[in-house]
Amino acid sequence: MKKFFAVSVCMFMLLCCACGPARPAQITNTDTAMGTVIVQKLYTADSQGRAAQEIMELLGKLETQELSRRLDTSEVWNLNAGAGRPEGCTVSPSMEEILAGCLDMWHKSQGAFDVTLGPVVELWDIDGWAAGENGEDFSPPEDRQLAEALERCGAGRMELREGVLWLPEGMLLDLGAVGKGVAMDRILSYLQGNNNITGAIISLGGSVVTYGSKPDGDCWKVGIANPADTASIVGTLMLEGEWFVSTSGDYERYVELDGVRYHHIIDPVTGRPADSGIAGVTILAGNGFLSDALSTACFILGEEKGMALAELCGAEVLFVSTDGRITMSRGMEAYFETAE
Ligand code: AMP
Ligand code: MG
Repeated sequence: MKKFFAVSVCMFMLLCCACGPARPAQITNTDTAMGTVIVQKLYTADSQGRAAQEIMELLGKLETQELSRRLDTSEVWNLNAGAGRPEGCTVSPSMEEILAGCLDMWHKSQGAFDVTLGPVVELWDIDGWAAGENGEDFSPPEDRQLAEALERCGAGRMELREGVLWLPEGMLLDLGAVGKGVAMDRILSYLQGNNNITGAIISLGGSVVTYGSKPDGDCWKVGIANPADTASIVGTLMLEGEWFVSTSGDYERYVELDGVRYHHIIDPVTGRPADSGIAGVTILAGNGFLSDALSTACFILGEEKGMALAELCGAEVLFVSTDGRITMSRGMEAYFETAE
């Protein structure tokens, strides 16, 4: 009887080993979407890699159908085309949520974060210059042009009520500061709804979303670029489970003239690239939209006000100043390891 029991236990264990869940395969996929490089590392039982492709499709649709300021297929394009209409424009529920979040951040940042800066962003077109689309002869806009463009901006002048948006004539929405954040939130929903995926780390340019765990139990490691030398990092965030990390930096998109760097993050007070002594800001948050909006806002606000804003929003923040100093919120210290 004893022998029979021992054999049965062995058989049971063998069966368990043979039929138990296979160790998930690691799939790495590098592609471009939303004007940036997307690197996906997925741990999944679906070795065909369909998930990576589906995530790329999701990002493509987000850009072309919702967020792009340039493509006439997007909702933002249509809203901008409808600026000045007395009856306003109907917005989709998801766009309404995004715009309400942007207005909330505009209030909390005391106007530093402003998605109605489209006319000023277009005037500088730093993206175009940085991408080499405008040739070599960059010159900053004239004061008069900037003043005119600024007159067409100001989130306090837009109105969002019960699914309808009123933009004054000439105003242009530019959701560049939250696009990757919205994308990260959509990616997380996708991952949560896919039973094959046990862990993932996905980077979209300066933004990273982590999910689940690695098969070897190791934590997720997210490097923070050194603004003075972007081939190196100032340190690493050691994370477990679901997190959103967003970085805004003066090294991401810029053009240089006579030793001056003109970057893509605009101070709404001056209409010029923000000059708050910050070269890079990294936010760690439990929500993609928040992490992305905050990184832009904190870059403009600088260390002191930015730290207060992050705290108000329940997020952690790390600043690298233009002279290389690193400061961070108390909570960030628990996740940050300085580079050797
Ligand atoms: P990020 O890289 O997330 O900090 O976003 C920068 C992008 O946000 C820029 O390329 C502009 O499209 C847009 N932007 C620039 N300045 C502001 C601002 N003050 N508030 C909101 N969006 C901005
Ligand atoms: Mg941002």
